[in-house]
Amino acid sequence: MSASAILKEPKQGEPITMKGDRLQVPSKPIIPFIEGDGIGVDLWPASRRVLDAAVEKCYGKKKAIAWYEVFAGEKAQSRYGADQALPSETLDALKKYRVSIKGPLTTPVGKGIRSLNVTIRQKLDLYACVRPVRWFEGVPSPVKHPEKLNVTIYRENTEDVYAGIEWAAGSHEAEQLAAYLKDKLNAALPEGSAIGIKPMSSKNSKRLVRAAIRHALLRKLPSVTLVHKGNIMKYTEGAFKDWGYEVAKDEFAKQTVTEASGEAPNGRLVIKDRIADSMFQQALLRPEEYSVLATPNLNGDYLSDACAAQVGGLGMAPGANIGDGIGVFEATHGTAPKYAGQDVSNPGSLILSGAMMLEYLGWTEAADAVIKAMSSTIKAKTVTYDLERQMTGAQKLKCSEFASALIRNL
Ligand code: NAD
Repeated sequence: MSASAILKEPKQGEPITMKGDRLQVPSKPIIPFIEGDGIGVDLWPASRRVLDAAVEKCYGKKKAIAWYEVFAGEKAQSRYGADQALPSETLDALKKYRVSIKGPLTTPVGKGIRSLNVTIRQKLDLYACVRPVRWFEGVPSPVKHPEKLNVTIYRENTEDVYAGIEWAAGSHEAEQLAAYLKDKLNAALPEGSAIGIKPMSSKNSKRLVRAAIRHALLRKLPSVTLVHKGNIMKYTEGAFKDWGYEVAKDEFAKQTVTEASGEAPNGRLVIKDRIADSMFQQALLRPEEYSVLATPNLNGDYLSDACAAQVGGLGMAPGANIGDGIGVFEATHGTAPKYAGQDVSNPGSLILSGAMMLEYLGWTEAADAVIKAMSSTIKAKTVTYDLERQMTGAQKLKCSEFASALIRNL
């Protein structure tokens, strides 16, 4: 089937473009969405209603989103063929229109098949995985003061041990590489080792830290913390820290100051660093001292989930994968196949990812409205089953009813 027969671009609306390094957002931007597999069928319609209502509430008829459905996962396979879980025209649309949103996707099972999410990140060079973590009053949490944690994690998304360069124990490649290391570099590995490579580059580390610093400056946040394990891995993790400080010094000298300098910030952004294990402690013991965390890939993966769990919201945590002038906003949980189509799941993660997207467009009023509505709806104890079962005296709402409650609270 020809591409145009499957994808139907909206008749109204205009693409988002770039001028210099800034997005130019028309009043009716075309925004592609991927509904997602499993509970995506429940979450997406609910989320779309809330986002549209917030935009209308804030801007009347002056602004609106021209939604454009593109396909990935099972919906793509049913339209394009079994081997087409991520059609190239979907990737092309995400690239062309710059800002998009997606529900969760099933990772196809099989040798050699990479996760669709990883493929999207790599193909579009979405180098920063951004996860804001904050508590909503009323959400059950395992800590005494969940309200003290309010951080945005910028996790490097393209390299580190996640680059996927590894060889199985006993493979010809591993044996050859082990022999080379032993003979040429005097680095003997235990016999029969599996080998993985941890590449970390100046360019990719710097662009991640640059994005984290820009985020903090734009929002007038107090600090950016470089999280690393440089005491052990000096030339990878340690270099990440050094490159991070270099970016601050070379590109943001007037707006930043290092914690180590001992100078008073005087309105400047403080750049500091913490060793990863200490950062996990600090997130629990002194969360209020951190606002933006910039991390390499692996540590950021762990830290994002640990922080999200701390505010009780692993199932509600929003996320985005961002590159230069391009962003894919997404629910951070999976497809929860057991609940698919039952209209019971929590659309919170996708809706809050949508709020991040509105903020990325510069539509901050609408983003704030969604977050406030989320706050008041949860505070009123009108929630979906996952939260209801952990709260006393809460009213259990369906996914669609929760969206309606949010819209009433806008
Ligand atoms: P999952 O997130 O789907 O489910 C884990 C648990 O959380 C389940 O008990 C589920 O019922 C619950 N849950 C998840 N989202 C919820 C919501 N919105 N409301 C209420 N409860 C919710 O993780 P899994 O079971 O490990 O993975 C299922 C599938 O999802 C796999 O194919 C996996 O590859 C995929 N996955 C996709 C993404 C993504 O697209 N970003 C992320 C993780 C997993």
